Amino acid sequence: MNFLDFPEFNSSDSLPSTQSLLSFPELQKAYHEKQFIDYMLNHINTLIFVADEDSHFVFVNDTVVDKYGFTRDELLKMSVSDIDINVTQSDYSTFWKELVQKKTMQLHSIHKDKFWNLYPVLIQTHYIEYGGKAYVFGAVEDESYIQNLLNAHNGFIILTDGKKLVMGNTGMISFFGYPDFLTFISEHKCICEFFIEEEGFIYHQPTWIEEVKQAQEHDAKVKIKNPLTNQEHIFLVCASAFDESRFLVTFTDITELETYKNELERLAITDGLTLLYNRRYFNDIMPREINRAKRNKQQLAFIMLDVDYFKRYNDHYGHANGDNVLIRIASTIEYCFSRASDFCFRLGGEEFGIICTGNTPQDVYSQTEQLRQNIEELAIEHKGNSASSYATVSIGIAFCDGNTTMEILYSTADAELYRAKEAGRNGICPVQPLL
Ligand code: GH3
Ligand code: MG
Ligand code: MG
Repeated sequence: MNFLDFPEFNSSDSLPSTQSLLSFPELQKAYHEKQFIDYMLNHINTLIFVADEDSHFVFVNDTVVDKYGFTRDELLKMSVSDIDINVTQSDYSTFWKELVQKKTMQLHSIHKDKFWNLYPVLIQTHYIEYGGKAYVFGAVEDESYIQNLLNAHNGFIILTDGKKLVMGNTGMISFFGYPDFLTFISEHKCICEFFIEEEGFIYHQPTWIEEVKQAQEHDAKVKIKNPLTNQEHIFLVCASAFDESRFLVTFTDITELETYKNELERLAITDGLTLLYNRRYFNDIMPREINRAKRNKQQLAFIMLDVDYFKRYNDHYGHANGDNVLIRIASTIEYCFSRASDFCFRLGGEEFGIICTGNTPQDVYSQTEQLRQNIEELAIEHKGNSASSYATVSIGIAFCDGNTTMEILYSTADAELYRAKEAGRNGICPVQPLL
């Protein structure tokens, strides 16, 4: 089509200035107003189209014909949604309304040609009028080089405006098990559809990009469920501005690292023999729990247990059997103090500790008495125990008041435990009624 078959249009800034372009000799040759415009539109590398309010193409330049593989006649029967995979008729109406107001807009999208090759594109659009009708003049730049850049990196990388996915690399496509990017975005517009909302992770739309940007110094993490395997993956996410409207977001799968880290953290606070919390964790958590109880005006009790005549037990039954006694006593402790607010520790050797929050002193006493009985009822033969025929424990309890520090609480419970030993073992101090 000769461009001048399409009526002249009024547009102040849709073309470069004639004078500046005429400095090129080949253009000077072509210069003759009508020929010049034809030459310009058909020989520049930019893909140029004009579409009407209903999104039908009314003009396409030779570059568009060459690029998209359709004939000009075919293209002139098509509409924008036939080549732009992000555009539906309702999207176009929204776009049109905005264009009428703004007159010029820059858009990022993805075009497909006759053979379903995809091109990430940047489109400069201008509102133009002729003969009482309105049109959009579009100049399209192929941004496939960005796709190549994305694909050059491993891991999972996307280009997004936060709400819409613009491009994704092969890593991303294979993670979600799609054959290509087109199939992926025809089903999913935003990557955050896959985010699992959970504390410590960035949240669902619409502000997730903002959250990633704010969290960057504190490890922005996102949990994503893989729809194919149903497995949850943890990704470290990093977003940087690609241009004014888009973000380049990298996702690094740290699921294994996280599991490893959690396991190490668990090991660091666990006693290897009894699997109760260890002394290190006790030192960490005791001041925290005391402060929390003070803040919430809750009762906190610290309970200390020590196995009676355990040296004799070892001497008589052997160290390995001694170990088993410790294991069985530990599980009995855990069984009797199993609320989320209870913490059970092996403080060292054959000594155990329990932090118990939210119970009245009476309740703590009866719970502890139940524990003492349960341990004796394990009926572990202990010939050297003058307090019983079985293995038993002596127990000291201390309660937290407004001024109690960790040191006071600990030494009080220790002193009470000593009193329980002195009083004949297999018992609890203070004895009921408390305080
Ligand atoms: P008391 O009733 O006064 O507490 O007497 P006791 O014999 O229990 O107290 P003592 O502190 O004299 O001995 C504690 C014993 O606990 C000594 C040690 O052999 C034993 N013990 C400490 N840790 C372990 C352990 O991990 N495994 C075994 N089997 N024994 C341990
Ligand atoms: Mg001891
Ligand atoms: Mg002992």
